[in-house]
Amino acid sequence: MRGRPGNRAIALRADMDALAMTEATGLPYASEAQGRMHACGHDGHTAMLLGAAQWLAANRERFAGTVQLVFQPAEESLGGARAMAEEGLLSRFPVDAIYGLHNLPGLPLGTIAVPKGAVLASSDTWEVTFRGAGTHGAKPHLGTDATLAVASFITAIQAIASREVDPLGTAVVSVGHITAGDPAAPNVIPATVFLKGTARALDEAVRTHVETRLIEIAQAIATLHRLKAEPRYIRRLSPTVNHAAQAAVMVRAARQAAAAMDDHPPITAGEDFSEFLSRVPGAYCWLGTGDPAHPEGWHHNPHFDFNDAALTHGAAFWCSLVEAELA
Ligand SMILES: [Zn+2]
Ligand SMILES: [Zn+2]
Repeated sequence: MRGRPGNRAIALRADMDALAMTEATGLPYASEAQGRMHACGHDGHTAMLLGAAQWLAANRERFAGTVQLVFQPAEESLGGARAMAEEGLLSRFPVDAIYGLHNLPGLPLGTIAVPKGAVLASSDTWEVTFRGAGTHGAKPHLGTDATLAVASFITAIQAIASREVDPLGTAVVSVGHITAGDPAAPNVIPATVFLKGTARALDEAVRTHVETRLIEIAQAIATLHRLKAEPRYIRRLSPTVNHAAQAAVMVRAARQAAAAMDDHPPITAGEDFSEFLSRVPGAYCWLGTGDPAHPEGWHHNPHFDFNDAALTHGAAFWCSLVEAELA
């Protein structure tokens, strides 16, 4: 969308996707699709950006240059931002900066909070297959027990966050899935155990350390237990880290439109807005939806009910940001 003549261009990004969950709010406007629910409020983000688009289109004299409105699918761990970037979003629609916004329950309604630096963590997946020699549960000495190796491994990796990363830094290593053996055969020591989990960090150095150590520890435990480990670390989302100049513009715009906070502690969830930030400067803020009159629950919960009262705050903030950025 073009305003007065101007050379600068910015992008405003709203994600659009739902989650593979079944809504349990029982509200009259609840999702009618089984296993599909807007439990992160991305429908709200889309509505806010459409609201801003309507106002901006009617008030083009209020800004100079171009605003690109980015409606992004597949934010929830499905690589939507990367797909858009790889398909040439930023070469076909070049911009000087990109901005993102997410609703945040608990933050007072209408408040805009702009983190300095890290906003959200990296979100990576790791997995290890331990391959031993299966044997009779009564004769463990005739095999090599992969389940015992996994027990050591799970204990050992806890030291990455607690003993190796600066206590004032952030690392999370969690196990989310383990498979081994057959519940119908508790007297068999299984030959292989597969486990999988998530790893989070707020900066690249810590992220790389976690990656390196998960692989080293898997190999070391395998040696200790005389079996083989096949570790794999899958980098999915980089940390979302605000660029200082764009964060400052967001704070300035927020002060025009609403209550503003010029910092917010980082959160260990992930966000693929980091894909855009690796290609173009930008910033990401939180929009408060917290309201005692509207208990909305937390993101990714089947009872989550996005607070529609935030829509006008979000749309007004986007318009204010466009005026501040493209003055
Ligand atoms: Zn989400
Ligand atoms: Zn979300």
